[in-house]
Amino acid sequence: MTTQNNYESASEYQADAYTVDNWGKGIAFSVLGWETAPDSDTEWSGCENRTGNLVMRMIGDDQKFSVDPGDVTELAPKDFCRECGQIGCTHNVYE
Ligand SMILES: [Zn+2]
Repeated sequence: MTTQNNYESASEYQADAYTVDNWGKGIAFSVLGWETAPDSDTEWSGCENRTGNLVMRMIGDDQKFSVDPGDVTELAPKDFCRECGQIGCTHNVYE
């Protein structure tokens, strides 16, 4: 689902692109970071808590999605198009 939440860096996810199970194998996403959400303490602590999901962005689009990390698979750099984010498109692919 789409999310407007903040996120913090996810050093575990260094690849440029990933697939997400629920979206099939045709669309590449990039990981923006671990999703964080405010709780009842955030007003005075200034801290948000990780939700356990990743915030991911569809490559070629700007909508952000909240994704279970168990649904995320790393893609090889040559496996997706950097222009439109489609897997199998050879328009702008790094070898
Ligand atoms: Zn393309």
